[in-house]
Amino acid sequence: MQTKELKTTCSYCGVGCGIIIKKDSQNKVYVEGDKDHPVNKGMLCSKGMNLHYVANDTFDRILYPEMRWSRSHLRERVSWDDALDRAASVFKSIIKKYGPDSVGFYVSGQCLTEEYYIANKLTKGFLGTNNIDTNSRLCMSSAVVGYKKTFGEDSVPGSYADIELADCFLITGANPAWCHPILFRRIEKHKEENPDVKIIVVDPRKTDSANFADLHLQIIPGTDVVLYNAIGRRLLERGLTDYNFIKNHTENFESYKQQVLATSLKKASKICGVSEDDIKLAAEIIGKSNAFISMWAMGLNQSVVGVDKNFSLLNLSLITGQIGKPGAGPFSLTGQPNAMGGREVGGMANLLAVHKDLFNETHRKEVADFWGVKEISSKPGYTATEMFEALEKGKLKAVWIICTNPMVSLPNSGRVEKALQNAKFVVVQDISHKSDTAEYADLLLPAAGWLEKEGTMTNSERRIAYLPQGINPPGEAKADVEILCDFARKMGFNGFNYRNTEEIYKEYCLMTKGTNIDISYLSYDRLKNEGTFQWPVSDYRHTGTARLFEDKKFYTPSQKAIFNVPYGIENASVKPNSEYPLILTTGRIRDQWHTMTKTGKVARLQTHYPNPVLEINPVDAYISKVREGDVVEVKSRNGLVRVRAKVTGNVREGVVFLPMHWGKQLESDLNRSNNLTNIIVDPQSKEPDYKFTAVSVNKYKKK
Ligand code: SF4
Repeated sequence: MQTKELKTTCSYCGVGCGIIIKKDSQNKVYVEGDKDHPVNKGMLCSKGMNLHYVANDTFDRILYPEMRWSRSHLRERVSWDDALDRAASVFKSIIKKYGPDSVGFYVSGQCLTEEYYIANKLTKGFLGTNNIDTNSRLCMSSAVVGYKKTFGEDSVPGSYADIELADCFLITGANPAWCHPILFRRIEKHKEENPDVKIIVVDPRKTDSANFADLHLQIIPGTDVVLYNAIGRRLLERGLTDYNFIKNHTENFESYKQQVLATSLKKASKICGVSEDDIKLAAEIIGKSNAFISMWAMGLNQSVVGVDKNFSLLNLSLITGQIGKPGAGPFSLTGQPNAMGGREVGGMANLLAVHKDLFNETHRKEVADFWGVKEISSKPGYTATEMFEALEKGKLKAVWIICTNPMVSLPNSGRVEKALQNAKFVVVQDISHKSDTAEYADLLLPAAGWLEKEGTMTNSERRIAYLPQGINPPGEAKADVEILCDFARKMGFNGFNYRNTEEIYKEYCLMTKGTNIDISYLSYDRLKNEGTFQWPVSDYRHTGTARLFEDKKFYTPSQKAIFNVPYGIENASVKPNSEYPLILTTGRIRDQWHTMTKTGKVARLQTHYPNPVLEINPVDAYISKVREGDVVEVKSRNGLVRVRAKVTGNVREGVVFLPMHWGKQLESDLNRSNNLTNIIVDPQSKEPDYKFTAVSVNKYKKK
């Protein structure tokens, strides 16, 4: 039945599992886990093993460009030429009238590295604005700042291979059992085979990850900095630290010490809602371990103090010297398949490619010279939420949205809707009509999806994979790089005449030469023939770098890692009050991914969690007169959600939980968690505060 086999990578989470593709004579695709892949060793989670539906079922796909001449007209089918002529003419006239900062691109951690690279080159090099940001801003930009300020560059020190070498895991603000399942499966197996391995989970909810842990610290949302400082204090008091590492390889330890000693364990226990004994136990487990890994995701990053949370966690690796050695290191888990690749090519409004700094004049000149343009603007662009606020206020006139669904995923959906309505021109380039954002497009462009185009991606452990094209895109859909290069040429720009995607990759590789993320020796041929590689790859025979900082030389000017002291221990979120007494935290469920434009069309992925429900603690349910299964109205200062209640002790008292995936799939936008969330962001990372919204919950009474 099967014909040719292809090796590729799963298009969902940042774990980056290897997949074997088989096709039958009808070109129907089948998937199975790649047994030889170093990440998943043949395993796939529920999302990955159902990925063939995404490739085979094209009923929801955008098949040809659609355009409307005004908001009072319906969109109608047009040719690619007409579509991109219109886009170029609108962009030219807006830039002429209002300047380059009046246009912007909003892209995605699902874009391939080559697409990210071209979108950046086009925006920062040729349109003359840094207004390009990504939905990765919403999930890991706090970790980027944390790494940069601690190690000198945005560099994940370790590898998944360290999992089997570690004897202590601190998993915080993450539920890998559901959201990074294959990674978690490796941790489970390691513990099953080595019962002395200890797992600590920090989470306001009793998740499947927490249920597997030796110690669950069911923290009050937003108090993470206090908790990690308290653990740090206890490690210092007990002498469970690595003074040689601190003395020889770090800076600013004394300031850190002063801050952690300023808060007693008793006070920390009260603030965090965790017992003193548990804080002491966590410190004891970490301090006595030989190889300690911390892992975190959105629960830490998506906060108004997300960077401070990262600092306080990273500092635990520094005081224990648990970095640059087997089985150790602080490990930020990326939610999207190519969030890391986007970071490498500078796919954010305040970054430049190859870890160069937008605020450094020499770096800007180097990038401008490489692209053959006069200059790169020194003005940082709008970040994700700023971009939509600027649209709402009329400062940004046109936005080009690629492979992401901000109507569902950005905070405060009501404001996002106003922004899209207020924009003069909205381009949406995507695969599916099921994106709620597509509704607002003046120009809707059909993009090729997974398996329909080639390119590369980088997973959470710096592992670069080549993804081949295995099938043709449906209708007139085109690869994103092709669309962007065609548009660039219509704008009259030189430098976009690539004959194929490989030429784009080669150009980017050349840019990495001599940097800390050098892949100039890593060709498409090596990726196709030899498999995946972790950057940097320092010569033609080099097989990649599993672990950074083994020589204890960091990328800071002094080559020492830096203890960054959190600005304060106060959580600056908008606090609950008598009107909105509960704290809402939002997150993912096991079988859905992002805004369900792909997983939402797979029937068997609907059975685990068919509808969005509000998880509420029995005490809060009693106070709110809510029973299991009741339809409840959840209200915040921003909006309303109406869903059924699930009364469960899995959330702590005072906290409620809603999944973040649903948009209008159920014919109503009252399932959308982001109707409720606030547009407030961490001041350094500009990552939104999704994990802390003050809400009220009441039983819904039909009028
Ligand atoms: Fe895909 Fe992530 Fe599941 Fe692996 S763990 S199969 S990368 S969704």
